[in-house]
Amino acid sequence: MKKTKKKKRKNAPRSTHVTEWIRRLEETHGDAKQALLYSTPLELLIALILAAQCTDERVNQVTRSLFEKYRDAEDYASADQSTLEEEVRSTGFYRNKAKAIRACCREIVERFGGRVPEEVDDLVGLSGVGRKTANIVIGNAFGRPAIGVDTHVKRLARRMGFSKQNDPDRIEKDLCAVVPEKHWVRFCHLLQFHGRRICLARKPKCDICPGADICPKIGV
Ligand code: SF4
Repeated sequence: MKKTKKKKRKNAPRSTHVTEWIRRLEETHGDAKQALLYSTPLELLIALILAAQCTDERVNQVTRSLFEKYRDAEDYASADQSTLEEEVRSTGFYRNKAKAIRACCREIVERFGGRVPEEVDDLVGLSGVGRKTANIVIGNAFGRPAIGVDTHVKRLARRMGFSKQNDPDRIEKDLCAVVPEKHWVRFCHLLQFHGRRICLARKPKCDICPGADICPKIGV
């Protein structure tokens, strides 16, 4: 019987070196973790809404008192808009963020009995919640495998040759195809720390990168 050659998908991600990357990044950024402080899925969700266009440090400063005052989704849902705006003002885009938090929590109360839903489709149906946020909540607060493609994960996945895509949803798919599922959440933390410390957006420090010899440095 004639053998047919398996055609390679044109934009198929490269799977080479992924476990070696994980090993080396783990050695370099053993302290990598979710940088936003939270103790419940709701707190992480609120912190992620506030983190848009804002540093994690600033969000952590704001949420320290916010989480003391607002204990559950009902508290946020019934918050006064202008009071909440003032409380989150320093994170920027405070009007929209306060509005999104109130709307999102109202939906959580009305549709999910006050509990943050655990399924990605339910989460992305909430105001102010996109796929990245949904996956970060699922991966970190619910401890289930998920890849949240934030700005660092997106940039590094492309530079390292794991995805040729621009769209975060497609990058997520490419990463899910090459990264072993048990490492999904950890891989994101490692890329985030690597992106902040070494593979910087404007000037990546390839000379001190632990993966310089295996990185295709795409677009660098
Ligand atoms: S070698 Fe350069 S481009 Fe590749 S991950 Fe390291 S810093 Fe980034």
